Amino acid sequence: MFKKILIANRGEIALRIQRACRELGVRAVMVYSEADRDAKYVRLAEEAVCIGPAASNLSYLNMPAIISAAEVTDAEAIHPGYGFLSENADFAERVEKSGFQFIGPTPESIRIMGDKVSAKQAMIRAGVPCVPGSEGELPDDPAQVRKIAKSVGYPVIIKAAGGGGGRGMRVVHTEAALINAVAMTKAEAGAAFGNPAVYMEKFLQNPRHIEIQILADSFKNAVYLGERDCSMQRRHQKILEEAPAPGINRKLIERIGERCVSACKKMGYRGAGTFEFLYEAGEFYFIEMNTRVQVEHPVTEMVTGIDIVKTQIMVAAGEKLPFTQRQITISGHAIECRINAEDPFKFTPSPGRITTWHAPGGPGVRVDSHIYSNYFVPPYYDSMIGKLIVHGDTREQALARMRTALLETAVEGISTNIPLHRELMVDSKFMAGGTNIHYLEHWLEQHKR
Ligand code: ADP
Repeated sequence: MFKKILIANRGEIALRIQRACRELGVRAVMVYSEADRDAKYVRLAEEAVCIGPAASNLSYLNMPAIISAAEVTDAEAIHPGYGFLSENADFAERVEKSGFQFIGPTPESIRIMGDKVSAKQAMIRAGVPCVPGSEGELPDDPAQVRKIAKSVGYPVIIKAAGGGGGRGMRVVHTEAALINAVAMTKAEAGAAFGNPAVYMEKFLQNPRHIEIQILADSFKNAVYLGERDCSMQRRHQKILEEAPAPGINRKLIERIGERCVSACKKMGYRGAGTFEFLYEAGEFYFIEMNTRVQVEHPVTEMVTGIDIVKTQIMVAAGEKLPFTQRQITISGHAIECRINAEDPFKFTPSPGRITTWHAPGGPGVRVDSHIYSNYFVPPYYDSMIGKLIVHGDTREQALARMRTALLETAVEGISTNIPLHRELMVDSKFMAGGTNIHYLEHWLEQHKR
């Protein structure tokens, strides 16, 4: 096992990884920007290094600063968390070239999966079902683009090969709008992701977003830890997640899980990863793979009892997976609500000082958050300030626990989306389970205020 790890991230995930390190008896070096100097996990750290000013490109995205922090502290490995540099193949490569272990897959795996066109091609080769669409990047010739769209069938969605975070996508309903939409998506993709390549998929009308969590070691062992339902989204961004997915036949999950495991073995994948699918009418369609730990990993931890972050660190240190597929069982039901510093219905960001923070408790309640009373939410980063996770024997019990937890939670001084979560937890359609990816947007439309 490593003696010392550097955590190249901030906020709740930096704290989550720090906790895993403590359990493993590994020293954790925290890095922080000037805006995060007062973070509690920085104060509580055995070692912490300031890597630059508030702006992410000068701190959390600053590769030389992070690598030299690892050098001066004698860390052996770097955990990238999620976001920032976590899916940057060049960073993973520089980390390894500088003599550190990157806690994640190889730069090559990140590169293949980071380009959604090459990821889809790899999945097709591995026998994982994908959304029907263009075979690869769209050609420049408008006549050919029209031909592809016709054979895929309208509506179609134009997606950036280098896209992420729900950005770089455009739905097209008619041929008249097609060429202009492709040009606009290309221009945006070039500006936002430095890669203008786009591809086309059939736009599925009523799918659910179902994803499979996998873990793999360097000895070609891989397992899947069941699925998560992340269909409750706004602007293609998840706001709450649950495991297992309500109402999906276990045999179907097993079949798709096994496909993901065999794809991992074929690719020589190492570490934690997630295969994201759209699920419609009993069929799974791969959309992309995330080569890192995800925000919603706790719901899987709650139903499997497996610590995903600790396992990431163990396999990066060269250990074998400590369990086989047969030993993995799903018990009960878990739900996670993302707590964002924003207006609950208008979604404008609400950074600032938290005057009061009171966390919920009781059986089956977990809080992953770095905030505290008198904490200042900086305006420079993502608006998520924590996650509320509950576990129950049944989905009904998990829902009841989440309602209680949300009732007990108090955040004062800034606005949060807790009022929205409170309403969703008593919404009859959500309570029935199985809402699709458009449900929340429609709900917000109907509940406008
Ligand atoms: P990102 O990497 O930006 O998260 P994804 O490819 O994972 O992009 O897609 C994000 C979300 O966009 C999905 O969860 C889904 O809501 C929507 N989406 C993507 N592709 C399609 C499609 N072919 N049909 C319908 N919705 C889609």
